[in-house]
Amino acid sequence: MAEYSAFSLLRNALSGNKDWKPAWRKPEPKASYDVIIIGGGGHGLSTAYYLAKEHGITNVAVVEKGYLGSGNVGRNTTAVRSNYLLPQNTRFYEHSMKLWENLSHDLNYNVMFSQRGVLNLAHTPAQFDDLARKGNAMRHLDVDAELMSVAEIKRLMPAIDISANARFPIVGGLMQPRAGTARHDAVAWGYARGADRRGVDILENCEVTGFLRDGDRITGVVTTRGEIRAKKVAVTAAGSTGRVMQLAGIDRLPIESHVLQAFVSESLKPFIDTVVTFGMGHFYMGQSDKGGLIYGGDLDGYNSYAQRGNLPIVEEVMSEMLALFPSLASARMLRSWAGVCDMSMDGTPIITTGPLPGMYLNCGWCYGGFKATPASGFCFAHTIARDEPHELNAAFTLDRFHRGILIDEKGQGATPRLH
Ligand SMILES: Cc1cc2nc3c(=O)[nH]c(=O)nc-3n(C[C@H](O)[C@H](O)[C@H](O)COP(=O)(O)OP(=O)(O)OC[C@H]3O[C@@H](n4cnc5c(N)ncnc54)[C@H](O)[C@@H]3O)c2cc1C
Repeated sequence: MAEYSAFSLLRNALSGNKDWKPAWRKPEPKASYDVIIIGGGGHGLSTAYYLAKEHGITNVAVVEKGYLGSGNVGRNTTAVRSNYLLPQNTRFYEHSMKLWENLSHDLNYNVMFSQRGVLNLAHTPAQFDDLARKGNAMRHLDVDAELMSVAEIKRLMPAIDISANARFPIVGGLMQPRAGTARHDAVAWGYARGADRRGVDILENCEVTGFLRDGDRITGVVTTRGEIRAKKVAVTAAGSTGRVMQLAGIDRLPIESHVLQAFVSESLKPFIDTVVTFGMGHFYMGQSDKGGLIYGGDLDGYNSYAQRGNLPIVEEVMSEMLALFPSLASARMLRSWAGVCDMSMDGTPIITTGPLPGMYLNCGWCYGGFKATPASGFCFAHTIARDEPHELNAAFTLDRFHRGILIDEKGQGATPRLH
């Protein structure tokens, strides 16, 4: 398959853009593969890519029940950051950040990674102290972090309300300058193309409806396009993890599926040049290159597999937006949508071998798995290829919940909807 380049753009422009080849093939399923990956979201596709690139394992199929991008990889608000407090998380997400920084080049696909910074706001002195602690922890591990004063925040975002009589006055913030956004569909398409070029079969409209077994061992999958055997079967089904694992007889997992909504406004002139998060509720906002403000808030707060949300959260998100940016009262909301998030009990993911022989599990991404896409695939590919975790995902085990070694970044306890 041809490289994308300035030259290929020019050549295709001159020939009426009629010669572009599809970015990935549409193969028929083979009878068997070395590895089958269930779920063609960001994590499944990146896992396939790194299996091929880093481990030379190319007899791989990614089995997706819909079309690529139909899950959360195409529904998220695209924020990418590594501003964590706990070292297990910081190291993992910082590795992801480093992969992001070279991803367009690595994939030969422009994922529009834009390091415009992510700013967490503090609204009380105690919250500001907390952010300072987190910033220090990050810098301790060589991750960029800068405290910002109110005046600096106002200079960065002139429209923000910093008045002392604001609903929640701002006292400062913590900025990660290398954080930012990426174009989510491009990430799925770039990984798909990269995996396909190395020989991976991407099987769309192919739903897994059961597992093939030899005793306890998983030996393949039953799909809507027939049975497919495999030496190893990996699950990266995000919000549908519970349902897929139930097909293998695993009824109880330490995750819950919850709905998260997102919103986009009509296109506006440049309004905000970073991603900002509100500290007195759950609201965050950035601006897309097309001009739409992209924003979101809290989960809908109940378990569901529906990819749509309800009005109370719409109202809550809008009220938080106006608390920060009163001038947006007249901006119209263009669209809203939702995705199903796999919320773990401690807010930290699971990337592991098992729980059955021949099986590998990657889940529990809560609403922060987009930024993890490169590192998740990188570490999961290592885990599958070598039958042991990479040092970066060694702590993300499934048995940590019954051993009591939780990685509770927010200190919220076993309440998945609060992480
Ligand atoms: C509204 C919203 C905003 C978010 N914002 C951010 C953000 O700003 N930053 C961030 O880091 N994260 C964010 N996230 C979280 C992030 O999108 C997810 O954690 C991440 O995308 C999950 O991994 P994935 O891409 O592999 O999931 P998905 O794209 O959901 O992939 C899973 C795939 O599995 C497929 N599947 C399910 N069942 C089967 C089956 N039986 N057979 C075959 N295939 C199956 C699904 O169709 C789906 O395509 C957000 C999520 C949502 C919903």
